[in-house]
Amino acid sequence: MSVLVYTESENGKFKKNAFEVASYGYLLAQELNTELTAICINAENPKELENFGVGKVLNVKEAKLPSFNAMAYANVISQALEQENSSQIVLSSSTDTKYMAGILSGKLDAGYCPNVVAAPININPLTLKRAVFSNKGFANTEIKTPIAIIGVSSNAFGVIENKVDAEVLDFVPNIEDSDLGVASVAIDKITGKATIADADIVVSGGRGLKGPENWGMIEELANVLGAATACSKPVSDLGWRPHSEHVGQTGKPVASNLYIAIGISGAIQHLAGVNSSKVKLVINTDPEAPFFKAADYGVVGDAFEVVPELIEKLKEFKAQNA
Ligand code: FAD
Repeated sequence: MSVLVYTESENGKFKKNAFEVASYGYLLAQELNTELTAICINAENPKELENFGVGKVLNVKEAKLPSFNAMAYANVISQALEQENSSQIVLSSSTDTKYMAGILSGKLDAGYCPNVVAAPININPLTLKRAVFSNKGFANTEIKTPIAIIGVSSNAFGVIENKVDAEVLDFVPNIEDSDLGVASVAIDKITGKATIADADIVVSGGRGLKGPENWGMIEELANVLGAATACSKPVSDLGWRPHSEHVGQTGKPVASNLYIAIGISGAIQHLAGVNSSKVKLVINTDPEAPFFKAADYGVVGDAFEVVPELIEKLKEFKAQNA
């Protein structure tokens, strides 16, 4: 019996949230006085997980799963759970994992708690603190089913190193044709750019930027910081930026370490999706803009003056500290 963590990877590389869920799983395993086992699918370096307390890695190398597939992944994880006789599964709260966890929950009759933001409040009964109401509040949630699925929020618990010596074992799941009824046949991905879901820093622009021709400075600021770019809903509705950059209640959620909002008023629907970012910096000409109430740092000023200056200062700082 052990705690099982599902560690996400993309193109063979572990995502940052893989190390975060491993860190969470390690703490849970310590509390339960048991071992920590991870399952990974087509990861290049499964042994990397030993840095975060994983003692055993079930390594799936499966050509039938070249990319994420919710049904098939749920099936693979449930087989690992059965083999390990685990009662707790820890995974991330990414879009893919949330989609898959619902299927897994149905398959295992397991209670599922997503958006968990802290270590368990209590182990028996398992009580978890999770973000609710678009990150405007918290709920303490008990899971009473024999199997519990715990979805950890990005950047909430953190990555904690706990070096152990992991044994890596090949795990060969039984994949049914019915699992592959829906599959991605081609993925066209923008390369070389941080994605909103994984980025530590997100630079986001709103209608205050006046038009798509002014996005050069947003891109440049993002480049200097190694950040992803995002935008408010009207900006993507107007076709200034692609819909893939739209963040908020009806767009992508952001849970970065730093969110920089430039020329965005801070409407409730925007805040709903970005509120769980750790630090929020707002640049806006209007001191009454609602975003300032939610911000950690605010600059009242014209983006067309502040952003170029910020870029210059950051470049100087990087050059001095290279
Ligand atoms: P505005 O509200 O027009 O704000 C522009 C800001 O730029 C202002 O605060 C202004 O002071 C500032 N500004 C102007 N010039 C400058 C300058 N030179 N320098 C610096 N600042 C400047 N919105 C989302 O973003 N995401 C969502 O997911 C979303 N979902 C929605 C769902 C529903 C059902 C509804 C009804 C609305 C939703 N909206 C969403 C829209 C939301 O209500 C707001 O209309 C939207 O967020 C406003 O976008 P904005 O801040 O870019 O534009």
